[in-house]
Amino acid sequence: MNQVDYLRISLIDRCNFRCQYCMPDSAEIDYILRQDLLTHQELLTLLREVFIPVGFTRFRLTGGEPLLHPGAVELVRAIANQPETKDLSMTTNGFLLSQKAQALYDAGLRRINISLDSLEPETFDKIVGSRGRSRWLQVWEGIQTAYRVGFDPLKLNVVVMPGVNDGEVLDLAALSIDRHWHVRFIEFMPIGNNELFGDRGWIPSAELRQQIRARWGLTESQVCGNGPADVFQIPGAKGTLGFISQMSECFCDRCNRMRLSADGWIRPCLLNESGQIDLKTALREGVSTLELRDRLSELLALKPEINFKERNSGATGAYTRTMSQIGG
Ligand code: SAM
Ligand code: SF4
Repeated sequence: MNQVDYLRISLIDRCNFRCQYCMPDSAEIDYILRQDLLTHQELLTLLREVFIPVGFTRFRLTGGEPLLHPGAVELVRAIANQPETKDLSMTTNGFLLSQKAQALYDAGLRRINISLDSLEPETFDKIVGSRGRSRWLQVWEGIQTAYRVGFDPLKLNVVVMPGVNDGEVLDLAALSIDRHWHVRFIEFMPIGNNELFGDRGWIPSAELRQQIRARWGLTESQVCGNGPADVFQIPGAKGTLGFISQMSECFCDRCNRMRLSADGWIRPCLLNESGQIDLKTALREGVSTLELRDRLSELLALKPEINFKERNSGATGAYTRTMSQIGG
């Protein structure tokens, strides 16, 4: 069985963007109430006394927008200083990075993924729901700041949507040529916006690779991650190109992760809602962390059964939580 040692932690379900594919304006989102959010101390207790003892050593902070969490830098420091931590990273929309990149780096964060779905300010602003005030430049400056500060690897996440940003695949791929930037193309999933997803809202990674191969050539990269991305490289490029193909390929058998929501639910599979456990309520009701370890170990044993198995190309799922709520 694949070792499950990677926890994606959603710090907060709120966001300063409303990306069309994640939190469209039309979506009514029930935000987690403040008192239901895991506190700083509860999160650290769960990590130190439950997740680490059962074998989790790699952590990613995400959201919602993790940099909206007032304690984000302190959490980075605490997790980075935990001796068992082998890897710590963050996924952010980059809007607050110009201000926060240095503090995050100083607290011990080294790896960062920044979402960048377009290089065209107008398209970008449309995607992220800018409501009249352009956000593109501030995100671009955030990326540059993170690069200057020294984040490595610095990855740029692109969700490719037909008719929205699929015309920019080559321009986005080109960002990996001169800089140590790793661009990751993610197939659009039917979570968050079924309308935009439509009948077939995603483009298979293989088609993107074909486009890129025709322009520059493409080789399989030696720098292979241990996540779901298939990693390639434009010959001679400094960075790499990753393809996350959860719609066209099935990588459930190599899934190494679970997700912890900002209100303390542990979720074994992104695409299957069963099996979730409410760790926060149990903790608040006085259930011992030893008992919670047992519950988590049982869930880990069940994960291969819970993992999503069928690729249903283009079917829209009835997900009750968006990526911003799950911790994408
Ligand atoms: N706010 C941060 C950000 O945007 O990077 C972190 C949270 S966001 C939910 C994490 C990742 O999920 C982003 O890279 C985003 O593009 C991706 N995502 C959100 N909704 C998605 C969808 N329906 N299909 C594919 N990826 C999605
Ligand atoms: Fe916010 Fe990230 Fe979702 Fe966009 S993808 S709305 S930035 S949580």
